[in-house]
Amino acid sequence: MKPNRLIAGLLCFSAILPLAAQSRKSLKDTTMTLERAERLVPRIIHSPVRPLVPDGMAAMDTLDTADPAVKILLYPNYSWKYKRDASASKNSATFTENWTSEYPDPYKTSLGSLPDKVTFWVVDTLSDYRCPNQVAVYSAYGYRHRRHHSGVDLPLKTGDPVYAAFAGKVRMSKYYKGYGNLVVLRHENGLETFYAHLSKRNVEVGDWVEAGQVVGLGGATGRATGAHLHFETRYHGYSFDPEWLIDFKTGDLRHRVFTLRKKYLSMGSKYVPDSDEEEYEINEADAKDKEIAKAREEERLKAEREAAEASAQYYRIRSGDTLGRIAQRYHTTVSRICSLNPGLTSKSTLRIGRNIRVK
Ligand SMILES: [Zn+2]
Repeated sequence: MKPNRLIAGLLCFSAILPLAAQSRKSLKDTTMTLERAERLVPRIIHSPVRPLVPDGMAAMDTLDTADPAVKILLYPNYSWKYKRDASASKNSATFTENWTSEYPDPYKTSLGSLPDKVTFWVVDTLSDYRCPNQVAVYSAYGYRHRRHHSGVDLPLKTGDPVYAAFAGKVRMSKYYKGYGNLVVLRHENGLETFYAHLSKRNVEVGDWVEAGQVVGLGGATGRATGAHLHFETRYHGYSFDPEWLIDFKTGDLRHRVFTLRKKYLSMGSKYVPDSDEEEYEINEADAKDKEIAKAREEERLKAEREAAEASAQYYRIRSGDTLGRIAQRYHTTVSRICSLNPGLTSKSTLRIGRNIRVK
């Protein structure tokens, strides 16, 4: 990460100054206030995640913990780490509902029914990530020669390993039209990842795979000119630019926590570099908009109350009055009068001389 990028990253939480001005400030200025320090904390969540070390050490042993879904992995160099056994949830609704091994989109969700934005963990401290194929993107997501390109193309050599980005369950493993040999994984957070044009598929439908596991070998099956991995990320059947999540050149995962906006689910929406800063600005602006809307609504209600107060009419109860007759006289209803006078009900005894509000 370039230093100025880092400073911009550290400072982007401040809502006080525009972003451009912040990035010109020195790093020293970032340590000024506790408030600012607290704002920096969640930034860690948004720092890039290094991929698993390629061909890293295999665990020597696995130990149970009090939580059946959390294991301790022991390595030959005496190091260890916690790991969530996500396969414990492989029969949950996420992995059984809207599930087919036959075609790419089992959801048939209308775009309109999806929320404007959804925030989820991509990885947490107990789960791993590995770049499926670390290389500069050859062909980006979006419109290409007036065709939809619903993923990124990552060059490789036939036979190169292709890795599962995250742990998940194999939903599809078959030859499918233009995709050629296709593997689709569904992950715990509901995301799906697609690995296409493979020369060989190493996993079968229903298998549980761990992040970094080889799901197949690179190839050029299906509609492909030259060997490459066509990689997609999908949410409820809708693809979005995988570069929102992964920097394929460095292999880093851009977010631990990701806010997926509905607008990303359109072919015309591409990843914008440095947009995680933009994302913060958007989020802050959203929060501010909400505050303004809330303040406006409160003002409106206050004005309404005051107007009602100003036009209030009272009536002094006389002998022989009933609420029904009073309501009739003021062209209102008994229940309306009761609602204007706390404690008053249609069955209340009317005390002569008492003032009641009628409008
Ligand atoms: Zn492609």
